[in-house]
Amino acid sequence: MHTHIRSVLLVLLTFGLIVTLCSSVQGKKLSVVTATTDLAALAQEVGGDKISVESIARGYQDPHFVEAKPSFLLMLRRADLLITVGLQLEIGWLPPLVTQSGNPTIQVGAPGYLDASRFAQILDIPTGPVTRAMGDVHPLGNPHYWLDPANGRRIAKGIADKLGQLDAADADYFQQRFRDFDQRLAAAEQKWDARMKPYAGRKIVAYHNSLPNFAKRFGLNVIGFIEPRPGIPPTPSHTIDLIGLMKRENCKIIMVEPYFDLKTPNSIARETGAQVVQYLPSVGGEKEVTDYFKLFDYDLDLLTKAFTATQ
Ligand SMILES: [Zn+2]
Repeated sequence: MHTHIRSVLLVLLTFGLIVTLCSSVQGKKLSVVTATTDLAALAQEVGGDKISVESIARGYQDPHFVEAKPSFLLMLRRADLLITVGLQLEIGWLPPLVTQSGNPTIQVGAPGYLDASRFAQILDIPTGPVTRAMGDVHPLGNPHYWLDPANGRRIAKGIADKLGQLDAADADYFQQRFRDFDQRLAAAEQKWDARMKPYAGRKIVAYHNSLPNFAKRFGLNVIGFIEPRPGIPPTPSHTIDLIGLMKRENCKIIMVEPYFDLKTPNSIARETGAQVVQYLPSVGGEKEVTDYFKLFDYDLDLLTKAFTATQ
């Protein structure tokens, strides 16, 4: 009798152990939510099939202004990790969602909250006091930093490390995935640099100040913006000044994000003989741009064609 109970207990214990092992091995992928598609793409690179990842903002949306939806709360409620761009890019829409989600894991400062800007090289950091006269957005430095592949690499490493902390059993897997991503990115960078080399120093105008990291990385010279200040819509007087500047500087390229109206860019292009390039600032801006590599492939393709056509 005694032995019988012991063997039943042993069977139960073994069974319980197997159930526990199975659930930790096969199931419970880490649930990752990102503010933007670019962060989702980078998380997917290093997370592989050990995570499920979804982005709140769509790739064709202005990440400064995303309309909150109830479905976002559901995503955040079950998230193990939230990755944000930071530098107040999402300040107009994300903080209330995070609070309302009631998920303690992803609150600011909690282990499941990751601000990707801490890994990236940040440009345009204000040196003096910040005032509203400087514009409505970008008070802490430029938040469009993911458009430099070197920052993509740094962010991917930061995410791999964080995933390894949250899921220690798979930490080696995430680091291996990062090394693989790193190698593929290095090869792609060689290709991109070679394509852009003939156009080093070319002058461009941008609608919004989204491109300082991209321009620095690929040797372009951003001489002005259609927005008088980041987040401030174009004004007639600023547009006239910009047209004068572009004529003096012989600037023939206007880069516009997909979520801005083309009226002002088109009229400036008519005045200056410039070409409007509707580039993509984010993965998913067009259907075929499904990952971080294809984003640069797409934009550099558009740009080099426009440079060739306008030289
Ligand atoms: Zn911005």
